Amino acid sequence: MIIAIDGPAGSGKTTIARLLANKLGILYLDTGATYRVLTLRALEEGIELDNEYKLSRLAKNLNILFKNGQVFVGSRDVTEEIRDPAIDKSISMPVSFSRVRKEMVDIQRSIARGKDAVVEGRDITTVVFPNAEYKFYLDADIKERAKRRYKELAGKGKAVTIEEVENQMRSRDNADINRRFGPLKKSPDAILVDTTNLSPDLVLEVIISHIKND
Ligand code: C5P
Repeated sequence: MIIAIDGPAGSGKTTIARLLANKLGILYLDTGATYRVLTLRALEEGIELDNEYKLSRLAKNLNILFKNGQVFVGSRDVTEEIRDPAIDKSISMPVSFSRVRKEMVDIQRSIARGKDAVVEGRDITTVVFPNAEYKFYLDADIKERAKRRYKELAGKGKAVTIEEVENQMRSRDNADINRRFGPLKKSPDAILVDTTNLSPDLVLEVIISHIKND
């Protein structure tokens, strides 16, 4: 069984997907983390972020592992590094290429193959698992989404302002919605949940009620 969740940054998908997977005792797959690992490695290797060929070669050879809630590339724990604002700034270009996305989708499908999983991202309900048993689209007002991301970054001691976070989020939203391959969009058969005024527990309740009532 696959539970697919899409939505923009700050919509609450990561928190909800993790809580849901824990509650159901199944795998949690954060596909954004796979694109973040790719971007981190490209920056480290000095690969130009507009070089589709080199980026897709890098993607093909990435050994990404999820273990105990941590993200590894090979044996190296990159959980914290991939959340750095520098990655947010650089990620839109590498994730826009069709050959890169094809490699990443292969990685994502192989991680979830044969398992029950909660999978979250931007194109999960439309491209990665279009036949998922359950599909949700989480959204929230941009101000609320920026506030959530700002709190997360400030809590980790990152020097950012809420305005910077909001502007960055708008430009990432734009890139996500307008890219040609795997854009962010609501699948017609996904259930829309507006999380603007809902606590994570309430969102979880709403989602579980849809799964139970099926
Ligand atoms: O979910 P998160 O904000 O960590 O994702 C980081 C970036 O990775 C997003 O801005 C988006 O551009 C990209 N992404 C994607 N497809 C996915 C998940 C994330 O293009 N399935």
